[in-house]
Amino acid sequence: MNLLNVCMKRLDSIKGIVLDMDGTFYMGGQLLPGGLDLLAYFNEQGIQFSFLTNNSSRSNTDYQEKLLEMGVRKMDCRVYTSGEATIQYLRKYYPGKRVNLMGTRSLAKSFRQAGIDLDEETPDLLVLAYDTENTYAKLANFCLQVRRGLPYIATHPDINYPDPHGDLPDAGAFIELIRASTGRLPQAVIGKPSAEILRQLADQWHMQTTEILMVGDRLYTDIQLAHNAGAMSALVLTGEAKLEDLKTAPIKPDLVCADLAALLDLLTNQIQTLEVS
Ligand SMILES: [Mg+2]
Repeated sequence: MNLLNVCMKRLDSIKGIVLDMDGTFYMGGQLLPGGLDLLAYFNEQGIQFSFLTNNSSRSNTDYQEKLLEMGVRKMDCRVYTSGEATIQYLRKYYPGKRVNLMGTRSLAKSFRQAGIDLDEETPDLLVLAYDTENTYAKLANFCLQVRRGLPYIATHPDINYPDPHGDLPDAGAFIELIRASTGRLPQAVIGKPSAEILRQLADQWHMQTTEILMVGDRLYTDIQLAHNAGAMSALVLTGEAKLEDLKTAPIKPDLVCADLAALLDLLTNQIQTLEVS
């Protein structure tokens, strides 16, 4: 059996698909080719799917609104963020603990709605998110508590957020700032490429991570996540990674597609081929 056949056989066992958003499904507020047709295909075939983003500054309601504006049907606006994954992580490993959250009001609201007590003064543990509303007072207090040795978790490791005006400091840049000041790094970083976030989706869908296909445009987050979680991976070339990057990439994707339209072609041809045989 050649490599392509092995790959196609593995595709046949896929029951769930996770889609990165920026650079994969849309770019700068514009849908990329094939996205809506792909979602229609998932629904037709009964394939579970979710969008996945590391951005913890916005809630999934914020993202649902964004997708709706771009023409995605409400039922298809299923978004999982690193913020939600962190909430699940806290409920599992730190139930009932008081949290000092360095995050936006939107994320704080999600934490409270999930029953997590937020306490800036006397927390049991610390959570660092992408906080676009940060202040020096908040940062200073957080660093003092990190120095006290409290459990310290970050929602995701991205160093920069790709803004249309240029890259802006994301949670990873603050992880580095806090490390420079306190000497400590977070003991867990939940978002991509940590396998934790994909394991949570697999649990919710009652399937194995090996039955999930992760689709994204970044090698060191999306494709690395699939690798870490034992999932199948597809790289699309509509965002950050270019074909020449694959030559030097330590982790290679299972599939490479020009865009989501090409991925849909691959998925549909696969089924036709199987029907014929
Ligand atoms: Mg992306």
